Amino acid sequence: MDVVQITKSVFQITLPIVNVFLVDHPIGLILIDSGPKGSKDLIFQGIRQIGKQPEDLKYVILTHAHHDHSGGLASILKSVQVAVYTSAFCAEMIAKGIAFQPKSKILAFLLRLVTLNGKLNLQFLYIQPVKVNIKIVAEGDCIPDANGLEVINAPGHCAEQIALFYPVKEALLFAADAAENETQLKPAFAYQSKRVNQLTLQKLAAFPFQIAVFGHGKAATKAEFEKMADFKA
Ligand SMILES: [Zn+2]
Repeated sequence: MDVVQITKSVFQITLPIVNVFLVDHPIGLILIDSGPKGSKDLIFQGIRQIGKQPEDLKYVILTHAHHDHSGGLASILKSVQVAVYTSAFCAEMIAKGIAFQPKSKILAFLLRLVTLNGKLNLQFLYIQPVKVNIKIVAEGDCIPDANGLEVINAPGHCAEQIALFYPVKEALLFAADAAENETQLKPAFAYQSKRVNQLTLQKLAAFPFQIAVFGHGKAATKAEFEKMADFKA
């Protein structure tokens, strides 16, 4: 686990397979994504490392339901009381404990065969269901009281994903898994539609941010993001 300060108020906690983010906001701490199952202790360690306490958490925002982003939520909610925000689609999935949804009936059928009709529990398919009342946000909404932290629909990587634009002094784009920057900045693997993801990247590139951060890999500048978003247009 590693904590990197991205801007004055935003920190990236790099977990073994994914990044989550802490926004140190006047209303309290906002956690963006929850890591895979078993991430709670590392996330809480990251919170303490920036001089805060887990009890300072006010909101958790999930970008999408994939297990590496949503799997840690159920256990976090057992320790602290926070409001959870995500898209309607993601809320439905995590309430049922489903982390991954194949894009076609044929793929869903093949997946059922491979997993012996659900008996073989592959970690990426399921998460511990989240039982709290999840608050739904959609394109253009701002997270309540969170100073313009704006929700952007960002599908393509999966059927529904939200990105977030944070228009503070050093404006930030939380691009989720629309792109990744592990070894080089590139569009992330698209489970749903490469073309839709490309449109998402172009849409995101139009926001007036200075720094973009991702679920996987390191932060990038606006210029780097624009170049990548244009690449396969
Ligand atoms: Zn993902």
